[in-house]
Amino acid sequence: MLLQNKKIAIVGGGPGGLTLARLLQQKGADVKVYERDESQEVRAQGATLDLHFESGLRALEEAGLIDAFKANYRPDADRLRVVDENAKIFLDEHHEDSTSSFGDEWFRPEIDRGPLRNILLDSLLPGTVVWDSHIVAIEQRSAEEAEHSWEIIFQNGNTAAADILIGADGAKSKIRPFVTPIKPFYSGVTVLEGNIPDAEKNAPKIYGLLKGGKIMALGDSKTISVSAKGDGSMDFYTGWNVDANWVTGSGIDFKNGKQVLEWFKKEYASWDDIWLELFEVEGTVFTPRPQYCMPLDQQWEAKPDITLIGDAAHWMPPYAGEGVNMAMLDAVELSESLTSGKFTDVQSAIAHYEKQMFARFAEIGRDTLNNTEFMHSPEGLQKLLAMFNGQPNERPVPG
Ligand SMILES: Cc1cc2nc3c(=O)[nH]c(=O)nc-3n(C[C@H](O)[C@H](O)[C@H](O)COP(=O)(O)OP(=O)(O)OC[C@H]3O[C@@H](n4cnc5c(N)ncnc54)[C@H](O)[C@@H]3O)c2cc1C
Repeated sequence: MLLQNKKIAIVGGGPGGLTLARLLQQKGADVKVYERDESQEVRAQGATLDLHFESGLRALEEAGLIDAFKANYRPDADRLRVVDENAKIFLDEHHEDSTSSFGDEWFRPEIDRGPLRNILLDSLLPGTVVWDSHIVAIEQRSAEEAEHSWEIIFQNGNTAAADILIGADGAKSKIRPFVTPIKPFYSGVTVLEGNIPDAEKNAPKIYGLLKGGKIMALGDSKTISVSAKGDGSMDFYTGWNVDANWVTGSGIDFKNGKQVLEWFKKEYASWDDIWLELFEVEGTVFTPRPQYCMPLDQQWEAKPDITLIGDAAHWMPPYAGEGVNMAMLDAVELSESLTSGKFTDVQSAIAHYEKQMFARFAEIGRDTLNNTEFMHSPEGLQKLLAMFNGQPNERPVPG
């Protein structure tokens, strides 16, 4: 097989990297995942995710992990309320009978990121993930210089070698420049993300509105997305049109809740006071994230022994709920190309995968940018509701 006697290094243990490791290991490949986190437990894993039939769920099927998923997903956490800035409800899935289930094309079950990561980690052979491996550089070696073509250098001074390198290291990928010089562009929207522990006690009004599901609020060309997590906390993010350099230019200390609250009151001045709850909980750490997108027409010549998956390949804003799903589908397509036996060399297998990935991203990325733009326009709410009415299942869902 193409991968016989080849050492594969996956950089980054996010959903994309871990899915790929599992799929390749099922085919007997020699894989390591290098992850900068110190351990599996080191940090909270962010908001909930809805997995899609043709991508995230397909990847779990192929990885033999759909039963583990069924044991860990959160029924009804996908129920959405669309509201305006006064929290007036315009669409309410809590009043709809749930008709779809596993096997239906439009069933999009929710899972928290932590349990998804654990399912994938538990499926790997012991020692596959090398924690505390923050990659600072990679260097290419000639056949005369070394047995393996890549040397990987970590912040802690360790090094590793590999024959094939896969960058699954997310939006700010260190590996991407070795594959392409193409850079992302700013989408015009920045998000500010936060998490409220014990949401029932700390933000009771929004908690009541949320009802264990999701809220998408739109008004005055701004959005707030809220989702309930299995641990009783609530994740949320604001989205609004602002300059790319707002994060540094605003002078806000994002660890200082009072400063963030003052900013919110001004920026969301026309929004009802109910939303203040999200910003009044002591100790909330806010994370600002300017939303970038890779160019939709990006393409490059396939390299013989290095490629990208997930956000490293096609970073995009979260307004179509596709990022994790695309990362997991990349893993399926790349592992298929590398292990199907259809290709005589690794470069051809990588080229085949990348061709599929470019075409898919051109389409999904376009939809994502359209959503991002209209949701942050004066007609955002009307357009979103029209989209639901026209195509009830073709809907963006906040993460
Ligand atoms: C606010 C918000 C909401 C979102 N909501 C959704 C949603 O609802 N649905 C959805 O599908 N997507 C959503 N997304 C997008 C989604 O989070 C990403 O698309 C997805 O996580 C990409 O997966 P990945 O495996 O490519 O990268 P990541 O999840 O970013 O994982 C990359 C991994 O690489 C590691 N790493 C990075 N640099 C290095 C290094 N130098 N050395 C070693 N390791 C490194 C990181 O620690 C991390 O574990 C959302 C994003 C945001 C910001």
